[in-house]
Amino acid sequence: MNIQKNNSISFKSGLNRSILKEIKNIDVAKAQIDFAKMGVDADFRGSKPICANFVYAANVLSDIAGKYKLPFNFVPPAIRVFKHEELIDKNDKALAFCNIDTKKVLKEEEPFVGTSVFMGEENSNIPLMEFLLLKGKIIGSKKTAHFLSVALHEWFHCIHENLIFKKFGYEGSCPILSERYGKEGAKGLDVISIQTNLPFLPFGKVLQKEVGRYAASSRSMFEVFAELMTRITVEALDKNINVIKNPLDNMPKKLPYFYKRKIEEILNI
Ligand SMILES: [Zn+2]
Repeated sequence: MNIQKNNSISFKSGLNRSILKEIKNIDVAKAQIDFAKMGVDADFRGSKPICANFVYAANVLSDIAGKYKLPFNFVPPAIRVFKHEELIDKNDKALAFCNIDTKKVLKEEEPFVGTSVFMGEENSNIPLMEFLLLKGKIIGSKKTAHFLSVALHEWFHCIHENLIFKKFGYEGSCPILSERYGKEGAKGLDVISIQTNLPFLPFGKVLQKEVGRYAASSRSMFEVFAELMTRITVEALDKNINVIKNPLDNMPKKLPYFYKRKIEEILNI
């Protein structure tokens, strides 16, 4: 008898038994103290899965920064878990997001410094999170269903924004970002606004194949960068979430040179 295997879906969330055990045993309060030492005001609201997600993401990114000298050392000023009804922008249905400039995001909290990261509480429910990731991969909107992909995607927005502010300066009204990045003729916010509202993204078909429909249809270099970097980063991990190669070596061969060049420009390499 010839049983046909369904090879079209390879769902690898990366959540094996030992990782699940680590998540179950994670000390959220201690992780928040560790994040505070790194300059991150993190409040995971007691969620072990979300806390673990960011702890793994932080370790992976700092490991890559050290081993391969990539500029992944930027950290979000704050990390928060939200319920959708707490958002000022009620229409925001995103699973997670990163604010570009400093603004009030949650009704009950003070404004958050730009490049802070927010994660929806649905990511706290592991079966639901796996379902949503799997769905994204099956319908072709995302290239990876790895459980770290949500935190890494937002963290890569934070890295990208910081790299732009570092290069072009910050011209907004946030005193903290002004102190960090203010300079004569600063135009970082302007550059971000252009890069997130492009008239179109060239090589659409190939791009969709390599980064998924979500980024390819976004008209935003930010989404292309975040999705591509997330993909090549999770592909550089072993099953215990150790970094085993330089993510840049996983750059898809068929990705048009135009995008490879753009990524190198962003990373300043
Ligand atoms: Zn995004």
